[in-house]
Amino acid sequence: MNPKVKLGAMAVLAVAAMTTPTAVNAATAPADTTRTVSAEPPVFAPPDAESRSRAVTTANATLAARSEAVLKGQNEKFTLSKSIAGAHGLQYLTYTRTYRGLPVHGGDVVVATDRAGELVGSVSSGQQARITVDVTSKVDAATAAATARAQLPVVETVATPKLVVHATTTTPKLAWEVVVNGATAEAPSVLHVFVDALDGSIVDSYDDVHAGTGNSYYNGNPVTIQTSGSGSSYSMTDTTRPGLRCGGQNGATYTGTDDSWGNGSGTNLETACVDALYAAQKEWDMLRNWLGRNGFNGSGGAFPARVGLSAVNAYWNGSYTSFGRNSANTRQATPMDVVGHEYGHAIFQTSGSGGGGSGNESGGLNESTGDIFGALTEHYANQPATLDPPDYLVGEEVNLTGAGEIRNMYNPSAKGHPNCYSSSIPSTQVHAAAGPQNHWFYLLSEGTNPVGKPASSVCSGPTSLTGIGIQKAGRIYMAGLNTKTAPWTHAKARRATVAAAKSLFPSGCVEVNAVKAAWSAVNVPATSGEVSCP
Ligand SMILES: [Zn+2]
Repeated sequence: MNPKVKLGAMAVLAVAAMTTPTAVNAATAPADTTRTVSAEPPVFAPPDAESRSRAVTTANATLAARSEAVLKGQNEKFTLSKSIAGAHGLQYLTYTRTYRGLPVHGGDVVVATDRAGELVGSVSSGQQARITVDVTSKVDAATAAATARAQLPVVETVATPKLVVHATTTTPKLAWEVVVNGATAEAPSVLHVFVDALDGSIVDSYDDVHAGTGNSYYNGNPVTIQTSGSGSSYSMTDTTRPGLRCGGQNGATYTGTDDSWGNGSGTNLETACVDALYAAQKEWDMLRNWLGRNGFNGSGGAFPARVGLSAVNAYWNGSYTSFGRNSANTRQATPMDVVGHEYGHAIFQTSGSGGGGSGNESGGLNESTGDIFGALTEHYANQPATLDPPDYLVGEEVNLTGAGEIRNMYNPSAKGHPNCYSSSIPSTQVHAAAGPQNHWFYLLSEGTNPVGKPASSVCSGPTSLTGIGIQKAGRIYMAGLNTKTAPWTHAKARRATVAAAKSLFPSGCVEVNAVKAAWSAVNVPATSGEVSCP
């Protein structure tokens, strides 16, 4: 009755007929054949309830058996906080950690299992040292709040400080985590400040707001967007993608008496919402059909968009996207790659252990994630040259600052950004620090000399690389992101994507080796623990 199930079964039989007798037996067994046959399952293949519960059992047993490897002490507990499925039904279970009842920032562990929930693909933890801290604070909460408040020039609210263990470095510390809502000189800010609970100094901080890209009128007229309503009452709310809606800066969703929206002008805000919704809907569909992910958050949910930001910018603030305009004030910053970029931050935040931690290396990987999802969305939509054709440039349609695109993925240095990794990346501005991974993604997708696309050069290793196509590259990237832990680094991204390629494409080494070659080409070498192939 479900055509997708039928198609899956046919694919299994076809593979079984040309492979081993074991596979034939498995395919003819009455049980769920997709579970036992080693054929590649469909991209979007959420596991059934039984497989999901088996994954939890497997992951719990793994954590108990590998407590040494994940640096778990006897005063620590793990709690399953998130369980999502990825491409080919692979499952990712994220556990948060507490130490004597206090949340441990950086203590998350992600266990990946196969689709059946039986085999563990990987166990990753960002924690680098055992926790032995005393949990008695010597600094009171009010003092910590005042210290945190002083970190932003504009403060709207300061949340109640929360005592935590900060464990993203080799020296775990007792700290107050204080969330300050306000603004920096350039952009809104939702700043998490960690104040040392023993000496009152600032240990670390990170911002939920990721600003900096900017930029319908872009996607042709008319375009079809998913909205809701009937009679004489309509809303720019997409009820088929829960959480996705669009409106102005006050957070109210645009409504109307009919289901016709915008006027096609570059300065009209309702038109900007047409473009934002159109791009977000294409991105959602791309996630499902190419990457096997259910929604922006991995469990069927999306986030709202706001337009009309009074800035030459666009951002993600941890709970919604917000779009401004170009410097000439002629276009809203809502072309597909910019919308795809901002929702890419949402995907980053809801993958693996959540945020990638503090610092510009993690920040650069976060920005690159936005660019990768923008490029993937453009390729999925595959619009003609007269509109916004697929490419690996970022923001060329909005012409944000009058200098064309703001980033170039096949040659980041064309915009003054580094093409490859070096020890200066951790101190490079985050949008520039996106360069090495953006370049990696292009080399993996397209290679050095693709037909009909720009050539791209390498920084080390073989000068000629062959791409595996953007769909496979995206699937591998997403699967790696699902095992992210803080602090996220290029070395960890390499290990995670190599492991992901092996899990997703177990029957050969083409994908694994292409992932390795592209990382080596951008100066991110292999480190210990890397999966080998065959
Ligand atoms: Zn960004």
